[in-house]
Amino acid sequence: MRRALVPQIPAQIGQKVLLPEGEARHLQQVLRLRNGEAIEILDGQGRRAPAKLVFQDRGALAETTGEPTTDARLLSQPIHLYMAILKGEAMEWVVEKAVELGVRDLTPVESEFCVVRVEKKGAESFQERWQKIADQALKQCGRLDRLTVRPVQSFEGALLAHDKINSGRLNETLYWTDETLAQTGEKEAHLAAQTTPTESSAILVGPEGGFSQTERQRLLELTGSEKKAIRRVHLGAPILRAETAALFGVSLLVGHGKR
Ligand code: SAM
Repeated sequence: MRRALVPQIPAQIGQKVLLPEGEARHLQQVLRLRNGEAIEILDGQGRRAPAKLVFQDRGALAETTGEPTTDARLLSQPIHLYMAILKGEAMEWVVEKAVELGVRDLTPVESEFCVVRVEKKGAESFQERWQKIADQALKQCGRLDRLTVRPVQSFEGALLAHDKINSGRLNETLYWTDETLAQTGEKEAHLAAQTTPTESSAILVGPEGGFSQTERQRLLELTGSEKKAIRRVHLGAPILRAETAALFGVSLLVGHGKR
């Protein structure tokens, strides 16, 4: 099914909505759809509706042919991925898979060993690009609510942001995936043994070279703090590539939510 994101789905059947320029261009020039062809429109907030395309001089419209509906099985889960910024395609791959798996929010984190430095091009242009990739993945897999790519944060900024969210929403544990913990062989420290089905959760994954000593020290301090908002976990003995760790960690959290 060809899908397009629209700002709002009209309330009644037969009403039209103007497609954003990029969506219209994609449907017409890349997918080569014609007047009258069936598409599905998504509002990115949990609703979809069947529609047909109407190309006009002033742009492309979608005319709804059915009632808007939702489907709980196609909604995200309260999972927040704090992902150290990876090189080019690896980061884009993580964004795409996070959408498919049902992650609700993704915060790109600039940590000491990140190879990519976002200041050169500007953090906002990276954020925009990742959001675009997330939206494309949404349309491809049919998920109904958008993954929000949040602004790039420094390592400390990410911890603060989590703290803020956590103080407003109780029980949002941040799982720090630490490859060195796996070497202790502690089975109960595996992420699979840590989560409970109802929690909303966050997961932190380091860059290709891992977290620096200073960053690790900071995380260790926080895991020991009384608030216990951060839990140190591992993903098994093999050292996974950062993108694999993200995918595996998120899958474990999603599995607990039984999507
Ligand atoms: N520090 C390592 C090195 O350079 O030898 C590797 C870092 S690993 C490629 C990147 C990130 O993936 C880590 O910071 C961690 O968050 C996560 N990770 C990879 N394997 C893991 C494991 N077995 N358990 C927990 N986290 C893991």
